[in-house]
Amino acid sequence: MQVDELQTPALLVERSALRANLDTMSAALPGERLRPHVKAHKCTSLARWQRDNGHPGFTCATIREAEVMARAGLGGDLLLANEVLDARRIGKLIAEGARVTVAVDSRETIAAAAAGGVSEVLIDVNVGLPRCGCPPEKAGELAELARRSGLEVRGVMGYEGHLMLVQSAEDRARMTREAMALLTGAAAQVGGEVISAGGTGTYLANTCATEIQAGSYALMDTAYGELGLPFEQALWLLGTIISVSGGDSGTYAVVDVGLKALGMDHGPPAIPGAQVWFCSDEHTTFAPGALDIRVGDRIRLAPAHVDPTVALHEAMYLVDGDTVAERWPVDMRGW
Ligand code: PLP
Ligand code: MN
Repeated sequence: MQVDELQTPALLVERSALRANLDTMSAALPGERLRPHVKAHKCTSLARWQRDNGHPGFTCATIREAEVMARAGLGGDLLLANEVLDARRIGKLIAEGARVTVAVDSRETIAAAAAGGVSEVLIDVNVGLPRCGCPPEKAGELAELARRSGLEVRGVMGYEGHLMLVQSAEDRARMTREAMALLTGAAAQVGGEVISAGGTGTYLANTCATEIQAGSYALMDTAYGELGLPFEQALWLLGTIISVSGGDSGTYAVVDVGLKALGMDHGPPAIPGAQVWFCSDEHTTFAPGALDIRVGDRIRLAPAHVDPTVALHEAMYLVDGDTVAERWPVDMRGW
């Protein structure tokens, strides 16, 4: 099948770019040094490529991601890097033979894990991102409570998400060291072997974590593209030009990919060689610049934020240039 035969909007993954991104990351962080985060792609076909690159463990953000991974035979060592109050679905997966470690940051989440049939946890520590995670000085106390509740504490996690898009590599590295000093302090109180942290923006700077939870590196987006990381844009939205107009403000064109097909929290998508004006529900309006754009043409847009973009689509198409190689269901989407 040719890319031109796909209905638009369609999510494309350029195979050579994906391959290069996975290999670059696996060379930097081989084996268990990387615990790929599946929230970025929500696709077990892609996760299999990551496993085949030597990474046995994965990070999940939702119970559903853990369920789909386990039932696809990828549940050998999953980390649910998130707090859950109803842990029974995780307990069920464990009873079926999966290994799932769950993040806890309170008495309530520890009680829920123990009651739900979870056996292994990480103490989630706040390292500066105001999201989940206990204060570093509370980590030891929570670890003790978890052990008293019959849970095995494998160590700590602490996601420095507020630092991922710091533009200067030097500042990012310094701030990561400061954030990770909080996590190593907590790890000393908690015990265990695991220090799980990091993402695409800090995968090299974070030398303190025993495993890095990066996800976006595989497909990439324009927000991460601005950091000059050694990863290529592999994810594209394919659209069809549905209107071209002239007028006082100059010629502009409209493509049938709007904000219902794009995660917009990091801004509008990019069209190489053109200037994007704005997105509305079903449209992106752009100035084509030197591009020769006609109604009916197909063009590619690079999303600004990979995770929420992928989650809007039922499938991604693995392509080699103009040829569709495979259709990969986004099978971990939904809740
Ligand atoms: N770990 C956690 C807990 C996250 O929420 C995220 C993304 O938001 C990541 C790791 C890493 O993601 P990325 O590689 O996309 O920066
Ligand atoms: Mn993201």
